[in-house]
Amino acid sequence: MENRKPTDTGAREAQLDAMVVVVGAGLSGLTAARDLHRRGIDVIVLEAAGRIGGRAMAETTALGSRLDLGGQWIGHDHHHVMALAAELGATQYPMHTGAMPQVIDHGRKLPITSPSVLPAGLALAGLGALSLTGATGRWDDTTVDTLLRRVPGRTSRRLLEVIASISWTADLDRFSVHAMTQMVRQQGGLRTMLSTKGGAQDSLIVEGVGTLTDRLAAELGPRVRTGHRVTAIARDGAGATVRTASGSYRAAKVIVTVPPPVAARIEHTPPLPADRASLERNTYMGSVYKAIAVYERPFWRHHGRAEFLVLDNPGRAVFDTTAPDGPGHLCTLVAGPEARALDHMGSSARRDVLLGPLVPHLGPDVMKTASWHEKAWHLDEHAGGGYVALPEPGTSESIGPIPHAPTGNIHWAGSETASEHPGYLEGAIASGRRAAREILDAPPQPETP
Ligand SMILES: Cc1cc2nc3c(=O)[nH]c(=O)nc-3n(C[C@H](O)[C@H](O)[C@H](O)COP(=O)(O)OP(=O)(O)OC[C@H]3O[C@@H](n4cnc5c(N)ncnc54)[C@H](O)[C@@H]3O)c2cc1C
Repeated sequence: MENRKPTDTGAREAQLDAMVVVVGAGLSGLTAARDLHRRGIDVIVLEAAGRIGGRAMAETTALGSRLDLGGQWIGHDHHHVMALAAELGATQYPMHTGAMPQVIDHGRKLPITSPSVLPAGLALAGLGALSLTGATGRWDDTTVDTLLRRVPGRTSRRLLEVIASISWTADLDRFSVHAMTQMVRQQGGLRTMLSTKGGAQDSLIVEGVGTLTDRLAAELGPRVRTGHRVTAIARDGAGATVRTASGSYRAAKVIVTVPPPVAARIEHTPPLPADRASLERNTYMGSVYKAIAVYERPFWRHHGRAEFLVLDNPGRAVFDTTAPDGPGHLCTLVAGPEARALDHMGSSARRDVLLGPLVPHLGPDVMKTASWHEKAWHLDEHAGGGYVALPEPGTSESIGPIPHAPTGNIHWAGSETASEHPGYLEGAIASGRRAAREILDAPPQPETP
């Protein structure tokens, strides 16, 4: 079945190309497909990009180590990811981290107790408490940007702006206070969300998260087809016809794992129910740029740590993501409009802008990279951006976890649909598992010829 070519549109409806077509070969789609395949269900995965992995993407450095340009951290309670990594023979390691990142403002290191930083700490504590109440619906139209303007002191405001932007990749004038607090709540509180050790950034995988998606795809073999962008899905009583530029596929069931704003480009016949259509219309992908600088060794560890929040423009977070005994890896994240502003520079100019300000703190060796890896996710037309689909202000019904009740023969997966840890790798796996279970619990009946 897996080698069958897509049937011509005219002769379509009579035979199935696969029992289930999965749209998207990210972590959720590959997980769903593998679960079905292991239970003997015939499955095809159609992926728009020329590679698999979606928002997970590993690269090999000049020194032979592996790194992730997409999702990389495993939270302390992300048990699905830990189990998958162990099953696929990948090696988990804890973050090398301290209690708090150091704050750098135009070359100066600001102590966390500094009066110019203190209001930011108080505002974060307030936000943490507010998110626990869950009663923030009246701030559905108020943007985070508007709220931040009320925080006293330029440094505190800027620090909060950098933290918020990197945490959610949102444009802060397009992100409501209600959405922010709901997302904090879903992630088990602000402390968990922002923390490395014991929080959402607790550990990493030596071989890279991208290795997990590679290994899942390897088990599925030719059932995974890259370069197959799904343009339309037509549902009928007996199944669905999934169209791509190179032909169409007939299946009894379809699992769509594409994040809602990107899935909005898929045409549906009959049209999707109003609530699903508005979800796709009222969400957008965040803008995020990620870079990893690679060094012979993590030289900075002789005299301190390399974990910073940099308040200069572009605002950024820097993490030491070096694996045990591996070459030095310094990871930088820039988000929102300041990430998009980097698109206008060349790669080496970006490297100088991002690493140059670290020289006074880490020494001149920080400019001597063995290799430099970077990706602007908002420029990736198939991923759409990262880390997660965000609700437009005033559309509280679009705040994740988004509803996932099947629409006829279409089942919905993807990290955004997970009831726990939506937007994370953990949510992607859980949603793929759940969508596969939905189909296994009510197996599709093959059409009679
Ligand atoms: C820079 C960055 C850093 C992140 N950091 C972390 C982290 O440290 N920890 C963590 O847990 N999470 C992190 N995340 C989030 C995590 O990577 C995602 O939640 C997860 O990978 C989503 O998987 P998914 O399968 O649900 O979606 P995706 O990976 O987006 O998969 C959807 C797939 O559908 C494909 N597609 C799109 N349109 C079509 C179409 N029309 N036809 C066919 N295929 C289509 C896409 O190409 C993609 O491959 C990060 C994300 C980014 C971008």
